[in-house]
Amino acid sequence: MSNVVRPLSIMQKSALSCVKCAKCVPTCTIYSVNRDEVTAPRGYLDIVSAYAEGKLRIDENFKDSIESCFLCTTCVTQCPMSLPIDVVIERARVDIARQYGIPLYKKIAFFLLGNRKILNFIFSLGFYFSPCLFKAQNGHNKLRFSIPKLKEILGNRVIMPFQPRSFLQRYKGWLESFQSDSASVTQQRIGIYIGCLSNYNYVNVGVSLVKILQRLDVQVFIPSKQECCGAPAFFSGDIRNTTRLIKKNLDYFATFLDELDAILIPEATCASMLKLDWSHALEIESEVFGIDNTEYLKKLELLTQKTFMASEWLYKHTRIMKLLQDAPLWQDTENIITYHDPCHARKTLKVFQEPRQLLRNFTMVEMQGSNVCCGFGGVTIQSEKYHLAKHVGDNKAHNIAKSGAHIVSAECSACRMQINDSLVRNNVNVDFKHPLELIAQNLGL
Ligand code: SF4
Ligand code: SF4
Repeated sequence: MSNVVRPLSIMQKSALSCVKCAKCVPTCTIYSVNRDEVTAPRGYLDIVSAYAEGKLRIDENFKDSIESCFLCTTCVTQCPMSLPIDVVIERARVDIARQYGIPLYKKIAFFLLGNRKILNFIFSLGFYFSPCLFKAQNGHNKLRFSIPKLKEILGNRVIMPFQPRSFLQRYKGWLESFQSDSASVTQQRIGIYIGCLSNYNYVNVGVSLVKILQRLDVQVFIPSKQECCGAPAFFSGDIRNTTRLIKKNLDYFATFLDELDAILIPEATCASMLKLDWSHALEIESEVFGIDNTEYLKKLELLTQKTFMASEWLYKHTRIMKLLQDAPLWQDTENIITYHDPCHARKTLKVFQEPRQLLRNFTMVEMQGSNVCCGFGGVTIQSEKYHLAKHVGDNKAHNIAKSGAHIVSAECSACRMQINDSLVRNNVNVDFKHPLELIAQNLGL
């Protein structure tokens, strides 16, 4: 045991403010699986504060406990003190990563997420070779062969679809309508920050957003050099890779931000990462490495003022509801929808009414626990703790099935991956559609 008090202000401040009321415990996602206070918000604050005070060392148990948190932020919404337990966990993961290092598979993944040219090539290759590796089952890819190493990583899970060309390869710069004669100075000028899963795997999400914006006579700009938001690296404690991506994005977006009225993100995790976690990451980097990020925090403030989740902006700042009033009602029995609230939309950004309003032409049935985490949890949970993701995902699949809906929707492709996997594993025959895909379909686009 060391007597040295480490300068870990974010961890210590939160732990000291906890009044031990336990309001955060019953709804905690990992507590619902383990039923153990060592993996619950209050327990996390206890062990992290003991570590911060030098009374506890980081060891395998500490690592296992902290890495079991889903970062769903449910605890933050329940806590009467609004303690930032998610930030405390993220901060502790940085020290875990510094002590244990980043596993090789993550290093490769994070390197690729920061190198679009190589990733474009790999995903195109994946498209052409996926029929050899994967077989289609109920419209989803599953591993075809029992290749031991691959089986270990992928298990029996549903694999995301591959596309021949990414969204950013299909669209770049100002789209055609801007250059057309109809362009007027009163038109809104909107940029799209797409997110990696919509860029590479669920390309129709971005395509739908472009079509909706063009139908609204908005000038659309696709910043071609946008980078990953850094969420996979941040949630794994890889702070240097995270801030490298954040700073590249901030420098790049600053070059054209003045020309835009807003930047839309059709992905809850990326939106929450940019609007909330980029500042946490920059502050953590300053705390751990003594780097002055003041200039980047200023750039970030300007960017966040103009950044919105796509559904929120469409609902609040366009005439889309008027268009939807004139669109057909799709209330037949084949189009019953249930909506899952991504944690990074409802709990962190408070966006949950907007997508429901935009889907008003469909029959909406609310599933039980629509705001309960789907169990995605990030790279570590999906790879090293997949049993936890399955446990939580099974409950979500059960609630979706019980709702009687034919389609489940959520504004998040990480939820889409996890929910599709859970539905197939539980033999629940419900399709997943992003709200933007449904809106575009409803508008006949
Ligand atoms: S973020 Fe979610 S899983 Fe982690 S402690 Fe809070 S409620 Fe539990
Ligand atoms: S709800 Fe907040 S104050 Fe109460 S035990 Fe949990 S973290 Fe502490």
